[in-house]
Amino acid sequence: MQIIGASYLFLCDREFSILKNAGLLFDTRILAIGDYEVLRQTYLDAKANFYEYSVILPTFANPHIHFEFSANKMSFAYGGFDRWLDSVMARRDEVLADSTQAIKESIKEQIRSGVGMVGAISSYGDDLELLAKSPLKVNYFNEIIGSNPSAIDFLYNHFLKRLDDSMQYKSSRFKPGIAIHSPYSVHYVLAKKLLNLARDSNLPTSVHFLESELEREWLEKESGWFKQFYQERLGVDNPRALYSINEFLELFSGLNTLFVHTLAAKNDEWKKMCEGGKIVTCPRSNRLLNNRLLDIEAVGLDNLVIATDGKSSNVNLNYLDELQMMLFSYANYDCAVFAKDILAMATRQGALALGFNSGVLKEGMSADFSIFKLGSILYDGQEALQFLLHAREAEAVYIDGINVLG
Ligand SMILES: [Zn+2]
Repeated sequence: MQIIGASYLFLCDREFSILKNAGLLFDTRILAIGDYEVLRQTYLDAKANFYEYSVILPTFANPHIHFEFSANKMSFAYGGFDRWLDSVMARRDEVLADSTQAIKESIKEQIRSGVGMVGAISSYGDDLELLAKSPLKVNYFNEIIGSNPSAIDFLYNHFLKRLDDSMQYKSSRFKPGIAIHSPYSVHYVLAKKLLNLARDSNLPTSVHFLESELEREWLEKESGWFKQFYQERLGVDNPRALYSINEFLELFSGLNTLFVHTLAAKNDEWKKMCEGGKIVTCPRSNRLLNNRLLDIEAVGLDNLVIATDGKSSNVNLNYLDELQMMLFSYANYDCAVFAKDILAMATRQGALALGFNSGVLKEGMSADFSIFKLGSILYDGQEALQFLLHAREAEAVYIDGINVLG
């Protein structure tokens, strides 16, 4: 049992309450929150520490990240989904060849930027042990890809083996799940089987959906760049779309799914996705691959969570940089108000989306919080904004009450 206090506590509750000169009493969970001096004098046996000119807030949730692509720096083309996917097909093997060290560094980069929870998309299982043994809380989305009907049995059995491998590590901190790569790349028999399995076994699910207009054109008209991609790259004679947009969405009904990107979706489609799931937006990845950002007003801020995506489509995996991109990109929102919304998406909404008892500083929640030294008092009424502008690296990150940066 110990007490940690700071000049500012961002509770990240619905009202975005901020307590000044306050502290937390915690073991693996938060036991009490209140005035630091009062806590100290009430619990005289507890070790106590105060961080002046600092902010304590819940750890962030980064709900969509491909750790296996962490070795990428300048191997892929940006500026269009078509040229990006072409470059990934051509150079993927060299980027994936020796990723262990890069994955370890990415895990550290997460923690240093205040992230305590991730939604990791795993294509090959190369990140399994590293993530399971890391301090991070993880939704480990085993990803399925494959549209060739003759390979379905092989792919399904191979997938079950990977899912089984990840189940060995299942715990309250590590939750194996299923990711469907996308509607243009996964045969409906496979998608249906695996989503039924997710439903029966209560596994978390994730999917890249309507990331580009090209994808929409393919699903609606079976024409455009994807047709050519199937014919020329994959050697399919008469390629057909595997689903209509609605048929694909129907597969996810009743599931709590993270729908990633959805740049080319329409209002009624977002509405359907949000019946059970959440929308994940990755602003830097979207800017680089598709030259646009998500219409967050149409989606609704309550339905959104924010992610870095992988280094295959980003300059780094620093979560604070991603939040800053969000802040600077959506200029039609008042910056001081929007900063609070961004922090709500990054903490409370993200933790809820990943299913962890975290993301809010409140009695009974896991003791998952970060401390950032900012070196000054924050302009009154604009604390969230000043934090997003100036917080660069966490001083300490507590997960289940243990400082994992210490
Ligand atoms: Zn992705």
